[in-house]
Amino acid sequence: MKVSVATLAAVGVTVVNGVAIEPRGNKLVTSEGLRKLIKVKALEEKAHLFERFAYDSPDKNRVIGSEGHQATIDYITNTVKKFPKYYDVYQQPMPLSVGVSANLTVNGEDVAVDAVGLAPGGSASGPVVAIPNLGCEEADFPDDLSGSIALIARGTCVSGEKVAFATSKGAIGVLIYNNVEGDLLGYSLQRYPESDSDYVPTGGITQAAGEGFASLLASGGNVTAQLTTTAKDITTYNIIAQTKGGDQDNVIHVSGHSDSVAQGPGINDNGSGSISLLEIAIQLTHFSVKNAVRFSWWTAEEEGLLGAEYYVKSLNQTEKEKIRLLLDFDMMASPNYAFQIYDGDGSAFNLTGPAGSAEAEAEFAYYFDSIAKVNHTEIEFDGRSDYGPFLDAGIAAGGIACGAEGIKTQEEFEMFGGAAGVPYDVNYHEDGDTANNLNYDAWIVMARAIAHSTATYARSFDSLPPKNSTAIKARSDAKMFEYKKSARYLSMI
Ligand SMILES: [Zn+2]
Repeated sequence: MKVSVATLAAVGVTVVNGVAIEPRGNKLVTSEGLRKLIKVKALEEKAHLFERFAYDSPDKNRVIGSEGHQATIDYITNTVKKFPKYYDVYQQPMPLSVGVSANLTVNGEDVAVDAVGLAPGGSASGPVVAIPNLGCEEADFPDDLSGSIALIARGTCVSGEKVAFATSKGAIGVLIYNNVEGDLLGYSLQRYPESDSDYVPTGGITQAAGEGFASLLASGGNVTAQLTTTAKDITTYNIIAQTKGGDQDNVIHVSGHSDSVAQGPGINDNGSGSISLLEIAIQLTHFSVKNAVRFSWWTAEEEGLLGAEYYVKSLNQTEKEKIRLLLDFDMMASPNYAFQIYDGDGSAFNLTGPAGSAEAEAEFAYYFDSIAKVNHTEIEFDGRSDYGPFLDAGIAAGGIACGAEGIKTQEEFEMFGGAAGVPYDVNYHEDGDTANNLNYDAWIVMARAIAHSTATYARSFDSLPPKNSTAIKARSDAKMFEYKKSARYLSMI
């Protein structure tokens, strides 16, 4: 006889998507036990669901502030909330400003301009002043920019720093011009404002336009601009779910970002990581854990790791020290994949992380070598995704990825197949990043890698260096942060 789902729920049996799940066991989680429950079909169904979140919404994406992103946040939250006996779940609200529209005329002529995220809406009308040297140092700016619109090239530091300098000198508007070809659609200041008065209306223009105005000014010409921007204040959310079971003072923290860029649905970047984590969160409920497991889905990664940064800033030192290891997962199913491990020991790229990061890399290498029996490579531990703010805070970190816009080498072709001389993901940050963009064979290997590491550290931290806040802090002060000078970090700002 078929028992109704409502009846089952009433007697404490968990119900997921209308299906009653057996009462869950108390067996301590194992890598193999958890890995076996991660199935490609469940991943694939959720990839199509995330794609629908985008395509059923007016913007056809899952960028912060959009209906598609809110649907993603709601779905993840509601899914983990179906296990109220297993997880404590909360959403951390983060207010921010997103660009809506921009208009620019220069010397009376219309110029193409994009709204820049995090900058406020408003109007500015006045003479344009070109800022030399990229505007990353206060000394680049004249002492008095009152009533002026600063013209600054993108690059070397985050644009938020440039705009904050210009604002502090009295500028009433800023034009950021690109340092590569193309417009600045979806660009943001990449730095959470420190106060409401940190920024002024800012527009993004092309490199050709910006360089043209700069050279006109250099030759003594007059450049006067009228910039009008509109922005929308939104609240977006990080999602945090932590097991009620396990040692709450020694936490394995696994994470990925829930948002996409404006260009498309973002199913590899980073539906794939979000979904992997969600599926593992669901299946973990079949087991008990010794160490608490914390899952996080960060918001606003694409605007400059803002959600993760906001979260780390909200933690006091005691809370930071509870996180024994942060593992981050961004792009798990690139069509022309390589199995990449963050180079936490600095053996390939010289950038190391806080004590424990090397051990995390070794654990993933063990999984690829001995369990999945596949090849793997290393990528620079450059803080280019949400683990960056954790490195800054001296927290050990690690992770794996399948590759973004980088080009697959001949050597990697021999290791992984696919196509040499072609990006790992040709649809990276494009509208083609759909459920059809994914390599499902790669994804299941990666999702089970996450399951392996989650289960391993949920059982024990014995493979990590002992918890010692002084050593961790010393390491982070002395050794880290060089990553901010690395070429890959600089290419993303
Ligand atoms: Zn990403």
